Amino acid sequence: MKAWVLHGANDLRLEQRPLPALADAEALVRVKAAGVCGSDIPRIFETGAHTLPVVPGHEFAGVVADAGRACSDRIGKRVGVFPLIPCMRCDSCARGRYETCSTYDYIGSRRDGAFAEYVAVPAWNLIELPDTMPFDAAALLEPAAVALHALRAAGAENAESVAIFGAGPVGLFAAGWARISGAKKVFLVGTRAEQAEKARLLGFSDFLDINERDAAERIRALTGGAGADLCADAAGDPRAVSDCIRAARPGGLVVLIGNPRADMRIGKDTYQKILRKQLRVCGSWNSRFNREAENDWTETLAAFDGGALRPETLISHRFPLADLARAAERMRARKEYFCKVLICG
Ligand SMILES: [Zn+2]
Ligand SMILES: [Zn+2]
Repeated sequence: MKAWVLHGANDLRLEQRPLPALADAEALVRVKAAGVCGSDIPRIFETGAHTLPVVPGHEFAGVVADAGRACSDRIGKRVGVFPLIPCMRCDSCARGRYETCSTYDYIGSRRDGAFAEYVAVPAWNLIELPDTMPFDAAALLEPAAVALHALRAAGAENAESVAIFGAGPVGLFAAGWARISGAKKVFLVGTRAEQAEKARLLGFSDFLDINERDAAERIRALTGGAGADLCADAAGDPRAVSDCIRAARPGGLVVLIGNPRADMRIGKDTYQKILRKQLRVCGSWNSRFNREAENDWTETLAAFDGGALRPETLISHRFPLADLARAAERMRARKEYFCKVLICG
């Protein structure tokens, strides 16, 4: 099979490899669509992955082409994939909170992922797709589940006004989930006109350009001077975090989703607003996938299937597998607008 193998920072090579060997409880997934995550760009160009060499790619969907003895009933199924493989032994795993597993394995950074024709996936990590769901849409289950998980982590069910800083895929999905849970006002804060246009396509007309004016100030003005019930940083940027703190109402919620690009420093005055406004600030990591309640993935699948979320609207680019390196290079250059970039098999 063809696979993009990351050998180190800025050393990604298209190689011919044998098909992955399967354990008894593993399925061989023929990748049909794989999203390039914002986190893949520093992984490919700057830091390398946790394990090297490795095939990156953790947002994907496909068809089970083969399977080990213990899961042969999965052959032929159309599937999405939860990329985190929990240890099943630590305290978090015992509680079903696999997203905070202390010794997890991860498809696409610790073991081989989806920028290849085939990938080996434990049957436990598969979620079966309805026949009507396109693979392109299913490749976006992961970022949408991450966004849902963040709003849940914040306890945002009753938030009537929500401000999302960062208008990439996770930010746009977070806005979608806020609307689904009943928020009356949803503000999206971004950096460019194309993001405003994408937000408008998804039905969000309250878009604030961070370069044009003080977004936090605007959000307070647009909420009668109080501030938003919930502010989310989906940018991983110190300015966005500061703005979240400034834009939240007293007693409000701030949830941090974005992976930081560098040290996060916030000013003394901004920090003090956390105290004075008695804000609840919480972090969110990955998404919850389990067999019981609060499975972010089954809920995301239902929202895609029922049309409450429209993942395909977020897809801005499609490339064939052979063009991954060029696609990643263009994303890294940040000259043109990207929302979700898909590699299609
Ligand atoms: Zn990702
Ligand atoms: Zn664990």
